Amino acid sequence: PASSLDELVALCKRRGFIFQSSEIYGGLQGVYDYGPLGVELKNNLKQAWWRRNVYERDDMEGLDASVLTHRLVLHYSGHEATFADPMVDNRITKKRYRLDHLLKEQPEEVLKRLYRAMEVEEENLHALVQAMMQAPERAGGAMTAAGVLDPASGEPGDWTPPRYFNMMFKTYVGPVEDEASLAYLRPETAQGIFVNFKNVLDATSRKLPFGIAQIGKAFRNEITPRNFIFRVREFEQMEIEYFVRPGEDEYWHRYWVEERLKWWQEMGLSRENLVPYQQPPEELAHYAKATVDILYRFPHGLEELEGIANRTDFDLGSHTKDQEALGITARVLRNEHSTQRLAYRDPETGKWFVPYVIEPSAGVDRGVLALLAEAFTREELPNGEERIVLKLKPQLAPIKVAVIPLVKNRPEITEYAKRLKARLLALGLGRVLYEDTGNIGKAYRRHDEVGTPFAVTVDYDTIGQSKDGTTRLKDTVTVRDRDTMEQIRLHVDELEGFLRERLRW
Ligand code: ATP
Repeated sequence: PASSLDELVALCKRRGFIFQSSEIYGGLQGVYDYGPLGVELKNNLKQAWWRRNVYERDDMEGLDASVLTHRLVLHYSGHEATFADPMVDNRITKKRYRLDHLLKEQPEEVLKRLYRAMEVEEENLHALVQAMMQAPERAGGAMTAAGVLDPASGEPGDWTPPRYFNMMFKTYVGPVEDEASLAYLRPETAQGIFVNFKNVLDATSRKLPFGIAQIGKAFRNEITPRNFIFRVREFEQMEIEYFVRPGEDEYWHRYWVEERLKWWQEMGLSRENLVPYQQPPEELAHYAKATVDILYRFPHGLEELEGIANRTDFDLGSHTKDQEALGITARVLRNEHSTQRLAYRDPETGKWFVPYVIEPSAGVDRGVLALLAEAFTREELPNGEERIVLKLKPQLAPIKVAVIPLVKNRPEITEYAKRLKARLLALGLGRVLYEDTGNIGKAYRRHDEVGTPFAVTVDYDTIGQSKDGTTRLKDTVTVRDRDTMEQIRLHVDELEGFLRERLRW
């Protein structure tokens, strides 16, 4: 695996996986573009998720809701009031930080002084942040007195009182920029699922339990984006909202934690690097009854890859009309605008109730980063040279097969290779690349670095012009394996089965 983010960043840029957005103008902070190989890897990961969670199940529907979101959706969801991170400024350097991130980086003795100043008994960062946000004036002074260091300068700072910063991006819909036309870029895909609950239910006649799955962009104005594509301002999520009967929620919560852990392993992440973390009650979001995060050992540390929350009836309960009549258990805002009853009629008793929901929510970009980190391998070759090889699961590799003519000045060979490429492409296994650029050793090295599992070479034997004068090897090609670097010779008719066997899901 990669030992630092830097070596991944370098590989991603060099080989065309991921670029800084608007790089030619100095870059837009916390935003990245996926290059020719990155887009393939990301699409493959999303397709694998969709296949598993939609196609392979008979209790799931797909959805693709809009990014632009009505203000009331994010009002009643609670985002307008609470989707905020605590932020603090250093008056000297003018740098701004997310409070919890800043505290995480402080030396032990600085934190000890802060715990004492804020009278927090148990030494727990979460509790410290909460105490500080309850007494922001005192907290600002305490930070300065405790000598909280500014990571940018390495020096103690003069800190402002911390305050909340709402992370939603605002925009205006239509020609007039006023309050009435204010809309948001969605900060999560989930809300699009909740507000479409009745539409999907009416269109599909689903019975509980069933889920709605969605993949799409989400936007958060993170105070301090960092760690490459780990924490960014524009990202993608793969989210499921799985609706169940109240009382069955704990069972389904456990079920989804297991299911998701299994899936990430199938994608190639090793079990030792995946850590399920049960959030303690004081860390839980206000809507959650329980949350298990799946943490991954990223090169920069053990951090969240996916969160699986039991959100009870909070979401549908927040957005439904007739709230009183439905006996909602979660504490929700009184909804005075909704025109739909987001509830379920029990087919046996005829009674209406609001389903509970289990939400497995994964970050696509964090998934891509985890896959790259896990796959990155430096190997010493027998001849003393080193090679970098990206040991991605073959199904996820950006390029599945490279078809390479041994020489590029022999039309029989290049034409054969082009025909073969078309034939392999028709198998529908993903991207197959015809490549006649430069020497074959270099091509192998490049394909190792981008994780291409198979390189197929068309040579003189293939066209029936073997050195020994026979046509014994006509229509055979060599297949090189990325991981073992071994080459075998196969008849092209066998090649199809060989590749299908190794590249199908
Ligand atoms: P964090 O605590 O790291 O800020 P979160 O708990 O706010 O994340 P959720 O709201 O649970 O994240 O979002 C679900 C998933 O979306 C996360 O597990 C993560 O994979 C992804 N995600 C959230 N914020 C970002 C971001 N800024 N950049 C990239 N991915 C993100």
